[in-house]
Amino acid sequence: MAELWIGSNNQKKLAELTRLLKPLGIALRTPDELGQPFDPIEDQPDFAGNARKKATLLANLSGGIALADDSGLCVDALDGRPGVLSARYGGPGLDDRDRLLRLLAELHDVPTAKRTARFVCSLCVAAPGDRVLTALEQACEGVLRTEPTGAEGFGYDPIFVPLEYANDPSQSFAVLGADIKDRLSHRGKALRQLTKQLPKLLA
Ligand code: IMP
Repeated sequence: MAELWIGSNNQKKLAELTRLLKPLGIALRTPDELGQPFDPIEDQPDFAGNARKKATLLANLSGGIALADDSGLCVDALDGRPGVLSARYGGPGLDDRDRLLRLLAELHDVPTAKRTARFVCSLCVAAPGDRVLTALEQACEGVLRTEPTGAEGFGYDPIFVPLEYANDPSQSFAVLGADIKDRLSHRGKALRQLTKQLPKLLA
């Protein structure tokens, strides 16, 4: 069976990636199997750069083909922030809930029509020797609520309403749940695009 290393330590993100890749029948390997830490510094200026850095490092450490994603939320009223800093927004010591509340506080005076945002997901598949096999990026457009709702998903899901549901702002990704999120999300779209190429890349 073909193997693919997945370059993420985020358990909730790993669960999404595993769910979306399952139909391909590929054996997924994770960094905890390496026997050494996998904690790359995400210091690149864009999602694609961070995805490439993570994928090439994991391919080099594992000796196998590795997939990494870098993702985040880009808010128009904040000139694209938090963007690549989404996971660390507001500094150290904050959890997902703190970060989301901090973002809402910053958007306090922004009217509904201007609360547009998008989730972006950049994917990179690399082989040992810093060889990038493929790289791609997808986005999911939406609007931001004024307060969190829903318990599913992770990160900024409780405040993000995908454009397809914008006429009912109670429907955040954290309310809509896994099936609908996978269909509409940046990560779902990016992985569906990737799965068309993956069997050939792993052959
Ligand atoms: P990274 O890709 O691991 O650097 O972190 C991405 C960060 O962006 C996450 O920690 C979340 O804060 C945010 N993010 C990315 N994708 C999603 C998503 O699907 N839902 C909610 N938040 C997300």
